[in-house]
Amino acid sequence: MEKTFSIIKPNAVSKNVVGKVISCFEEKGLRVAAIKMVHLSREKTEGFYIEHKDRPFFASLVQFMTSGPVFLMCLEGEGAVARNREIMGATDPAKADAGTVRKLFGEGIEANAVHGSDSSQSAERELAYFFEKSEIHSRF
Ligand code: ADP
Ligand code: MG
Repeated sequence: MEKTFSIIKPNAVSKNVVGKVISCFEEKGLRVAAIKMVHLSREKTEGFYIEHKDRPFFASLVQFMTSGPVFLMCLEGEGAVARNREIMGATDPAKADAGTVRKLFGEGIEANAVHGSDSSQSAERELAYFFEKSEIHSRF
């Protein structure tokens, strides 16, 4: 059993598909172990995406991620990190497989509906960045 970190990004929240996105995770074997709705600050978002700080899209990405509220989640299940990435689909919705969250709800490579940790180390860092241990309700 494994935990991963997920964000439902501002474009999906504003489209009112939060329930549909969560259903994609639940139907494919993941369980919500923590969830909160927040409007991220610029500072918090820059720290979260620090690995991308030198990329040309960094400023625009931070602008997008702070443009409206998001849902921060801990998802858990068997092989949760990799399973979540499969359910999400490719970074660019145009290249994502049919039925993935990004294909269904992404607007473009930036407004791609969801974030998911890319490794168990990232998951640990990202969960600790947003959640207290007491806020995560593991069933395993
Ligand atoms: P992923 O979210 O699939 O792990 P990355 O870690 O490479 O992808 O990028 C982080 C986020 O930055 C993406 O989810 C997307 O919102 C944005 N992003 C990535 N590449 C681009 C790009 N070329 N142009 C604009 N935004 C991008
Ligand atoms: Mg990434």
